Amino acid sequence: MIKQFIDKLLRKAPGGSAARARKPNFGKRQDVPHSVHGIDPALVDKRAVDVVRTLQEAGFEAYVVGGAVRDLLLGLRPKDFDVATSATPEQVKALFRRAFIIGRRFRIVHVVYGRGREHEVIEVSTFRAYMDNAAAEQVAGNEKTSKSELAGMTHAVDSTGRVLRDNVWGPQNEDATRRDFTVNAMYYDPQTQIVVDYHGGIKDAKKRTLRMIGDAATRYREDPVRIIRAVRFAAKLAPLGFSLDPKTGAPLVASQALLADVPQSRLFDEMLKLLQTGHAIATIEQLRKLGLATGIYPLLDLVVQRADEPFVKAALMDTDRRVAEGKPVAPSFLLASVLWDDVRTGWNRRIEQRQHVFPALQDAIDEVFDKRIGDVSGRGKLAADMREIWVMQPRFEKRTGSAPYGLVDQPRFRAGFDFMRLRADVGEIDEALAEWWQEFSTTDDLRRQDLIDQVRDEQKSRTRKAAPGAEAAPRPARLRARAPAQDLSLIHI
Ligand code: ATP
Ligand code: MG
Repeated sequence: MIKQFIDKLLRKAPGGSAARARKPNFGKRQDVPHSVHGIDPALVDKRAVDVVRTLQEAGFEAYVVGGAVRDLLLGLRPKDFDVATSATPEQVKALFRRAFIIGRRFRIVHVVYGRGREHEVIEVSTFRAYMDNAAAEQVAGNEKTSKSELAGMTHAVDSTGRVLRDNVWGPQNEDATRRDFTVNAMYYDPQTQIVVDYHGGIKDAKKRTLRMIGDAATRYREDPVRIIRAVRFAAKLAPLGFSLDPKTGAPLVASQALLADVPQSRLFDEMLKLLQTGHAIATIEQLRKLGLATGIYPLLDLVVQRADEPFVKAALMDTDRRVAEGKPVAPSFLLASVLWDDVRTGWNRRIEQRQHVFPALQDAIDEVFDKRIGDVSGRGKLAADMREIWVMQPRFEKRTGSAPYGLVDQPRFRAGFDFMRLRADVGEIDEALAEWWQEFSTTDDLRRQDLIDQVRDEQKSRTRKAAPGAEAAPRPARLRARAPAQDLSLIHI
């Protein structure tokens, strides 16, 4: 790694000047008026407008930037608003009552409006200076880089080895050139309604082209996560008629190997963005179309591989639908769906080996975690949530006595129920079971008792039919524990 890094320095920046010699194209500023871009001011978040106005009144440049401008141009309501400014983080912080400087390597300010669940964050970043490639590649997320390696990058670090490079402020045109796609690199001033565009973003938006700023292969090398972002935006914007510019798309496959250097945690986060921002099905289509169906991240490979299986497909579609309806989505739910097949296989195998139903399930889950998500084992909450969803499944079969009351009071009941509902939707379990729980979970105690009585009556009449004349007696728990395989009649796995 050190050798590689030194090679890179020697190759690209002898004496620290080669990067300067290959000056990038910072584009040409175009001030595009409303008559051309047609952004509907009603779609612009009031709080973002407030942030921009406050900064401008204090004498700074400030604009709505990035994805929000892209979405506004396309007539979409942006899901969040970022602001870019010439003010430093300290200067921004001083202007707002509730503003927090976040991050070290990449310092930004969160300006917070409202409280509790309703609170809204406007992310404010200072215009950043253009980085030469060597610095960019280091800063882009290669966390394996040691402090001493970084210390060699005089412009990128301070005396303690901390990466400063990404906190070097610069003019707006340099900030624009650092961004990824031309349609993501525009600045909107809500006061004058002018869009500032350096790289032909407006033209590309009109032509429905997703184009990387600069040389695509170089930009993927600087930050390989841009490969994944290309897929994400291609998927998101495909319904609007967008496609990747050929020069942006061509180096994707060859660049994919660079992802090996990206920290697993960052890849995992990007995978979740692919799957959870409302375009999961379209993303899988793009991954296949672009030749990236495997190799980005092991779990993602599995998602793509299983995307056409009814249960996984239903989970992906459900996720897309929830996002479209503005409902929250949890990664645990989708991942639990994708890995459900492995859990069921391991569970069945153990039950066949005469292990009791519940420990068999726990052991099967452990096995799946070991095999499939070892690399995100740091994500305790995610794994715990997935386990809870799975462990709840056999409990849905117990609908007598106090068991249903206990289950419905579980904090994660809803996720477990939604999962079970999906199993019913694809015919894995009886639809009537899902209906029963839907009713039980939403009604009053009187009706709940009635529902439990109904199940008891049904079970009684089934037992009578099976053994005419015999009195239906509940099977002792002791017996169940000894003969787990018999429980399979109840547990439709
Ligand atoms: P979304 O609507 O999905 O949030 P977005 O474009 O806002 O899309 P973000 O990840 O929120 O995407 O990033 C905000 C902006 O920051 C982008 O529009 C882009 O200009 C810039 N950006 C983010 N990540 C990168 C990157 N890896 N390389 C270059 N620019 C980036
Ligand atoms: Mg965004």
